[in-house]
Amino acid sequence: MRLQDQKRIVIKIGSATLVDEKTGRLRAAWLQTLIDDIAMLKAQGKEVLIVSSGAIALGRRRTHLPAGKLKLEESQAAAAIGQIALGEAYADALHKVDLTAGQILLTFEDTEERRRYLNARATLTKLLELDAVPIINENDTVATSEIKFGDNDRLAARVATMISADCLILLSDIDGLYTAPPATNPDAEHIPIIEHITPAIEAMAGSAGSSLAKGGMTTKIAAAKIAVNAGANMIIANGGDYNPLKALMEGGKCSWFTAVANPITQRKRWINGHLEPQGILTLDDGAVRALLSGKSLLPAGVKALDGNFAKGDAVIIRRLDGQEIARGLIGYDRTEADQIIGHKSSDIPALLGYDGRPELIHRDDMVLRDHEPVTPI
Ligand code: GLU
Repeated sequence: MRLQDQKRIVIKIGSATLVDEKTGRLRAAWLQTLIDDIAMLKAQGKEVLIVSSGAIALGRRRTHLPAGKLKLEESQAAAAIGQIALGEAYADALHKVDLTAGQILLTFEDTEERRRYLNARATLTKLLELDAVPIINENDTVATSEIKFGDNDRLAARVATMISADCLILLSDIDGLYTAPPATNPDAEHIPIIEHITPAIEAMAGSAGSSLAKGGMTTKIAAAKIAVNAGANMIIANGGDYNPLKALMEGGKCSWFTAVANPITQRKRWINGHLEPQGILTLDDGAVRALLSGKSLLPAGVKALDGNFAKGDAVIIRRLDGQEIARGLIGYDRTEADQIIGHKSSDIPALLGYDGRPELIHRDDMVLRDHEPVTPI
């Protein structure tokens, strides 16, 4: 895998990389070397988008808010102050290499609701057409904690799938995925390429993170699942040194998560990337086989339901051993679904008292996810 071969690239910059943990100041000299690298990539014909954290960290220093966890309105105020500084820093650094910044602040609903998702995508696409560099962050000033990404790893993955990026680079304070936390375990081994995000890979993630970073490894793996299933490769690399992208171009140490072979349509990307599915369906083996061969999900093969979903909500589809195999938009509310699972579709009119659609989830509303094959015993 080579960065050279990726055309449309989303780069996520974590707070711990951009802001000095001790002083709370922006690492301006470092930022300029990152932007120099971006100018180099753009000169090679690549398209670059930046998802940057740091608003709260920067705003916090300027307001002298107390150390420790901020209250919601404190972090919103800190973000309001810090986001201006953040945008200014990027605009200035890009200006020095004759590039233009365009700031976009997204909320959770902007990626979860289809209409707003399409709207945001149109703006991003236009910015790229205009040769600007989009600088994206969560709109922390209005987002409340219940409906928030909270971490920019998953936001960046959503952005990457929204604009069909080839590659997502997460620049953080660790140079990839290790078999165990390297800071505490001397036997930890670095994994350069991850082709399938298996439960074993997920278990390696733990939840390490610095005091500034929100995500840790868990949200990076969650981001990888969104990205690779939508056809984007993902890199985790240490961004702390000067010229971090140049280092990657020259084969620097990192972990690659490789995209699945059959990228899916735009609408399916949106379904695949849902961050808060409302329910879980567990299927019997026959239904799993039918799904994998491209069929719709019929109520007959569903063994169990979980969650209080409504018609049209995104749900997770699992096989009996608990492994997720697909996601989809369900065609029935939970109360109706309870009545029809385990039954033939031809019984639906009698069970519900009206002529409902034969499938619980139509194949056009479903995305198969990369998963481990069942090991024969
Ligand atoms: N949106 C937050 C900020 O700009 C950062 C979230 C994160 O660190 O992932 O401060």
